[in-house]
Amino acid sequence: MIDLKGKVAVVFGLANKRSIAWAIAQKLNEAGARVAICYQSERLAREAEALLPELNDAKAFQCDVSVDAEIDNVFEQLKATYGKLDIIVHSVAFAPADAIKNDFLETKREDFRVALDVSAYSLIAVARGAAPLMTDGGSILTLTYYGSTKVFPNYNAMGVAKAALEATVRYLAASLGSKKIRVNAISAGPIKTLAARGIGDFNKILNAVEERAPLHRNVETVEVGNAAIFLASDLASGITGEVTFVDCGYNVTGL
Ligand code: NAD
Repeated sequence: MIDLKGKVAVVFGLANKRSIAWAIAQKLNEAGARVAICYQSERLAREAEALLPELNDAKAFQCDVSVDAEIDNVFEQLKATYGKLDIIVHSVAFAPADAIKNDFLETKREDFRVALDVSAYSLIAVARGAAPLMTDGGSILTLTYYGSTKVFPNYNAMGVAKAALEATVRYLAASLGSKKIRVNAISAGPIKTLAARGIGDFNKILNAVEERAPLHRNVETVEVGNAAIFLASDLASGITGEVTFVDCGYNVTGL
């Protein structure tokens, strides 16, 4: 049983109850951590507020991670509320529709910039805001996908953003290691969430996993949550800069 009692965990990226962020927040809560949820915009506030009562003593904060002032503001609020932070979960990604729909060759400069900014740079910005509050060290986790390494239909600019995100994990791990802050990514298999709905032919990807993955099924968000609390806990004290697959083994297959 993983024990996170006395830890404060901040989870970025809650859109609704299907979000991977929500499964991770529930697992962190079950393990005894105090959980702060961060949602992107006013539009998502009601969803977050409605889910809060399912957690013990959780609070919700608004933060658009593409705006530095909002990141500064949320960490000021988190400092005032909790003083010290232990666990940060970055479960955030976005690419404009054209960048995950059109032929990759047609990717526009501005769409590419937005995808990389929201999906990769934001991890650096969030880590910079969090680090001064992680005075006892801790764990920063992000969510990535195998499209960083292999070509999947329509994943396009998001695949490039995930490659940048995974490299960011390694450089942040090196930058923050002396502060005893570990930085890792979970590479989740495909899961039907709001973000996934934007990827055309997503069902084809789900079907391929069922057919070819060693476990012959798709992963569930709760399994991503389980891996997340392990990586967030002291049981993973020797693991940093890593990408851990939670994908029913799909990534090891050839044909
Ligand atoms: P989701 O749509 O529930 O979560 C994505 C979140 O990103 C949303 O809450 C959205 O509000 C947030 N977001 C987007 N732009 C933002 C901004 N500017 N500021 C703050 N928040 C912003 O979908 P999800 O599938 O739970 O995605 C969570 C993470 O998991 C993403 O990084 C995604 O790429 C990754 N992932 C998803 C899958 C999958 O198949 N669903 C697989 C592997 C990795």
